[in-house]
Amino acid sequence: MIFYEMNDGVVWNIFCIFVVMKYDVIDRLRKERSLVDAELRELLLSADSELIDELKRQAREVAIEQFGREIKARGLIEVSNYCKNNCLYCGIRAGNKKVERYRLSKEEILECCEQGDALGFKTFVLQGGEDVRHTTEWVEDVVSEIRRRWPDKAITLSLGERTDEDYERWFAAGADRYLLRHETANACHYAQLHPEGMSFENRVRCLRTLKRIGYETGTGMMVGSPGQTVDDLIADLRFMEQLQPQMIGIGPFVSHRDTPFADCANGSVETTLRLIAILRLMHPEANIPATTSLGTLAGNGRELGIMAGANVLMPNLSPVKDRKKYALYDNKICMDLEAAESRALLEEQMRSIGYFLS
Ligand code: SF4
Repeated sequence: MIFYEMNDGVVWNIFCIFVVMKYDVIDRLRKERSLVDAELRELLLSADSELIDELKRQAREVAIEQFGREIKARGLIEVSNYCKNNCLYCGIRAGNKKVERYRLSKEEILECCEQGDALGFKTFVLQGGEDVRHTTEWVEDVVSEIRRRWPDKAITLSLGERTDEDYERWFAAGADRYLLRHETANACHYAQLHPEGMSFENRVRCLRTLKRIGYETGTGMMVGSPGQTVDDLIADLRFMEQLQPQMIGIGPFVSHRDTPFADCANGSVETTLRLIAILRLMHPEANIPATTSLGTLAGNGRELGIMAGANVLMPNLSPVKDRKKYALYDNKICMDLEAAESRALLEEQMRSIGYFLS
């Protein structure tokens, strides 16, 4: 009612002040790279689509300032689906007797690298379960050989929790980066997701060791894992604020039929996108992938991830014959595509939204 008594100029000024105040929280996040918990909660839970569009728009703008329109491709090689652990959410957990196990030989891994090199990949990511046959020496030998043959490539390892000596020797052999998701920064929640014998404390010890040695270190979490609360997500953001990882991998939880979490609901694509955007504003220089799990839950999930501030994609270079056996969750996409097809598909998807794959 009061507007009827004001002239147009006054109404316009009030409207502008309202818009500025509404987006103030995002401007401050971008400028100060942090917010108080209540403001982070607001961004995670808000039903205001304009506010969230602005969050993603600013995150995208920051990603373009940092990386241009380039999306970095990392060639993923799934080296083994053997694992001694029993994480409750994981399809290749030791307790899942239905999995057909495989382990790539050194020669097979080098063939994947050769193929990746021919396709123009600049990074190889060797990922696997905590396989007891992957001894310190074996991994050291594989890393040394990749480093010898491709001195200009980055070598990323993602082989789980290991000893300080393992991490040190693999770094000395030529590995540059290491990915180890913390999964949740709440130790009680960690215990709900992992079996006895695994602890948040040890995960943090590994991450701190990796940083100390000099690896570019990546961490991250599942979004919407069973028992997770919004406060847990805020704790995750605080944990990463402290750790300052160079890579941040987050994706929605996707259930796997042969795990104790088979009947649990999948995580939210929208919450994952908001977190990508928040993390981009908190960590402008970090490499943040648009994960395969995003693409699994939403047909255009990876494109949405890029539009929310992600800057990395990880096409699969593993032999197609073994892909299906590395099912961490159900309905994983791109299981049947050859490496070249997979890369071509992503190139096309990125072109369609105005980016290019490097
Ligand atoms: S999440 Fe990793 S460590 Fe846990 S069971 Fe799966 S492969 Fe093993």
